[in-house]
Formats: sequence, C-alpha cells, structure tokens
Amino acid sequence: MPHTMHNLQQIATTAQTHLADCTLCPHRCGTVRATAQGRCRVGPTSYIASEMLHMGEEEALRPAHAIFFSGCTATCHFCTAARFAFHPTYGVSVTPTQLAARILQRQEEGARSLCFIGGDPTPHIPFILATLAEVGNRRTIPTVFNSNFYLTDTALNLLSGAIDIYLPDLKFGPAASCGERIGGMPDYWNVVTNCIERVWSAGERVIVRHLLMPGHTHCCTVPVLHWLAERPGIEVSLLTQYLAPANVRGALAAPLDPLDVEAAYTLAHNLGLRLVA
Ligand code: SF4
Ligand SMILES: [Zn+2]
Repeated sequence: MPHTMHNLQQIATTAQTHLADCTLCPHRCGTVRATAQGRCRVGPTSYIASEMLHMGEEEALRPAHAIFFSGCTATCHFCTAARFAFHPTYGVSVTPTQLAARILQRQEEGARSLCFIGGDPTPHIPFILATLAEVGNRRTIPTVFNSNFYLTDTALNLLSGAIDIYLPDLKFGPAASCGERIGGMPDYWNVVTNCIERVWSAGERVIVRHLLMPGHTHCCTVPVLHWLAERPGIEVSLLTQYLAPANVRGALAAPLDPLDVEAAYTLAHNLGLRLVA
C-alpha cells in the first residue's frame, strides 16, 4: 500500500533517528552511528558514489536510474565495488532536494525505474525516505530497493509503502556459515530469508538475485534455489558474471566453472523457478 505524502513525511522524520542510534541492520550499532564508528562506518551523512541511467539491471527495470550509495553492511571478500562499498565517504554528499531534482531529470530522460543500490542502501534508508518525500507525487516510475537484505524488521517497516519492487540478493546458503565467514553477516541465512519471506508474503513484487560463486554450488546455490522454489511468484535472477578481484585467495579466486553455471540453470528449470534476465 503506497504511502500518502503526509504519511511518507512522517516516516521519513521517524527514520532520521537512526542517524544517531542505528538499528537498521542486525549489526545494531546503536549510538556509534553518530560518529561513523558502526560496522558499516556510514555516519549521519550519505555519500553517493555515482548515479546514472543504467542498462545492467533486469529487463523489467532498465534503463534504471541507479543511485550507488557508498558504504555497506557486509564485507564480502570478493567485492567488486570495494572502491566505494568499503569507503563510506567516497563520492559526493547532496541534499535530498538536490537528489530529488536529479531523480526527476532522469525520469524525464527515460528511466523506467528508480533503483537504490550500493555498497548497500540500508544505512541510507533515512536519506532515501527524505528524498522520496521531497520527490512527492511527481514520481511516475517504481522505486527499487537493491540490497543484500540483511535488514531488521524496523528497516522493513520503514521501507514498506515507499518501495515498489524489492531486489534482494540471496547469495549464501545455510550451510558452513558462508554468509558469516565470507560476507561478515552473522546469522545470514535466517535473517535474509526471513526478510525475503516477509515482503513476499505481504504480496510485494520480489526479484531475488543469486550470484553463482566458484566452489559454492552445494553450500549456496543448491539450497538457495530449493528455498526459492517453495515460494511461487518470486522472480529469480541468476548472476553468472562472477569475476574475482586480484586480492582474493582460495576457491573464490577461481573463475566460475561453466559446468556449474549449466547445472544451476538446469536445476532452476527443473524446480520451475520464474527466471528473469
Ligand atoms: S546500517 Fe550501519 S550503523 Fe546501522 S546497524 Fe547496520 S552496520 Fe550499524
Ligand atoms: Zn557457500
């Protein structure tokens, strides 16, 4: 149910409290957020690494007005966006009014969706809501929250009604605590699947992305695809462009095995998943 403008203003104001006492993700850093000492090291000011009309999103969303926020709640070893994901003050800080103007400009230029990305957009929820309140009813395209989905209920409550399409990653499976070990997110599987389950059962449009990672077919890809198959209606986007940065060691340094990619597609088809590209 979309918010009325009045309501969105109120929620945007409520969200501001997290700039000083943050519980937007399960790291629950609290008051250290105010001094940028939380796990993501995002402080009260949001920095934007870049924004553009982007053709790399799923067909239904592109061209997307993609807004890449700096900083992330995860610390994946193989991050290809480390330049800004692990440098929360990378880029520029703008006001919600300035970003709102750019959003309307990109909409004019033909954007079909407005995608909040990172790093991860989670620490920036207060800024995103303030911006959307500023844009108001001049927006004609859907909002997209493209996130690792390592969120608290509080964060999901704030987003509800402001986001039209959820684009969560479900990267890691339940076994061997891959999400904790590689991504730095304790209790990864329970947290992220609960968050996806919540938006899916509320009838929201959900497109789940799963990145195929070398050596993680049995621990990650297989259980992820099986979990998704039990939730009809969820659209699934398999990402097969894994490319390890030069500093990565071990199994994750290898290229993706084409046989693993083929096996993942075969499994997805056999499970009847609704694949999107
Ligand atoms: S969003 Fe950042 S500051 Fe807030 S709880 Fe998560 S890691 Fe901590
Ligand atoms: Zn794994």
